[in-house]
Amino acid sequence: NRRIVLASRPEGAPTDENFRLEETELPQPGEGEVLLRTVYLSLDPYMRGRMSDAPSYAEPVQLDEVMVGGTVSRVVKSCHADFAEGDWVLAYSGWQDYALSDGTGLTNLGANPEHPSYTLGVLGMPGFTAYMGLLDIGQPKAGETLVVAAATGPVGATVGQIGKIKGCRVVGVAGGPDKCRYGVEELGFDACIDHYADDFDEQLAAACPDGIDVYYENVGGKVLDAVLPLLNTFARIPVCGLVSQYNAESLPEGPDRMGLLMGQALVKRLKIQGFIIFDYQDRFGEFFPQMSEWVASGKVKYREEIVDGLEQAPQAFMGMLEGKNFGKLVVRVGDD
Ligand code: NDP
Repeated sequence: NRRIVLASRPEGAPTDENFRLEETELPQPGEGEVLLRTVYLSLDPYMRGRMSDAPSYAEPVQLDEVMVGGTVSRVVKSCHADFAEGDWVLAYSGWQDYALSDGTGLTNLGANPEHPSYTLGVLGMPGFTAYMGLLDIGQPKAGETLVVAAATGPVGATVGQIGKIKGCRVVGVAGGPDKCRYGVEELGFDACIDHYADDFDEQLAAACPDGIDVYYENVGGKVLDAVLPLLNTFARIPVCGLVSQYNAESLPEGPDRMGLLMGQALVKRLKIQGFIIFDYQDRFGEFFPQMSEWVASGKVKYREEIVDGLEQAPQAFMGMLEGKNFGKLVVRVGDD
């Protein structure tokens, strides 16, 4: 049984030294337990927060403990009445080949799910985050302009496509020409602007001739800077993530712009609301059938980047924080 533990806490961007691959004995399930074998491991930006012991909404991973993470796993031995050997489950086994569970928090996906890995993405936590943040906080209306960054990732791509379904003008922001082309040609956005472009601010302004009514915040930093002057009166900003600053050790250099932000919030009556998807647990039943229908009918498209081998997880994770992933990042840990 291989597992990847947190060897040390990163200072700034994580490095190989922060992770350690270990071999351990295969655990054996007791009465009421199942032994799970990981097939797919989800890699998500929030894991950078778990590597740090700064106060947050969730406990940090302890040193020498397995890195946390959502998994799609198979039951290899069952001493639990609700699970049979061979069942697929959505679990939270973390970065390892095998894990024990007493069934708490497991979702049984049955013996033969169609796209098991989708439950880590568009049909799971990231898709649900996109859905609730946009619809509950963003309140998009037909004809309004919606801007979303990290626009080809599992959250951003889903936000933009729901925006189109709701009749918005959707402007994505993504890193590089390939991602931007995909945003327009495959995801159906009205425009998708490359944040690496020298004239990014001007291009964003040109793509939003009527201003911005909903800014779905995934990244912060220079994208937020470019968005701020374009916001319309009564604009909504669901604050979902700030990935550009997850590796930061201190506040950015330069003038303090808090006053500017608060001034805009006042004169434009902005609604800026952070949220964590746990807050919406009781509404999963509203999301899941709707999103399943959109995916099945092709109204919402979904792209995965699948990396082979547990040992590749640290590199793939570090790359994601710099935008090297193109689509939902998933590690194939073991065979079906
Ligand atoms: P993604 O797969 O979209 O990966 C993150 C992306 O962020 C990168 O691919 C990159 O895309 C972009 N990025 C990284 N650094 C920068 C930067 N400096 N400036 C602009 N863009 C940058 O991740 P997810 O879809 O899983 O997550 C998107 C956001 O949603 C994250 O902030 C995450 O923390 C948040 N989230 C929040 C939840 C909540 O409960 N509040 C739950 C789930 C996710 P590109 O190359 O296009 O720039």
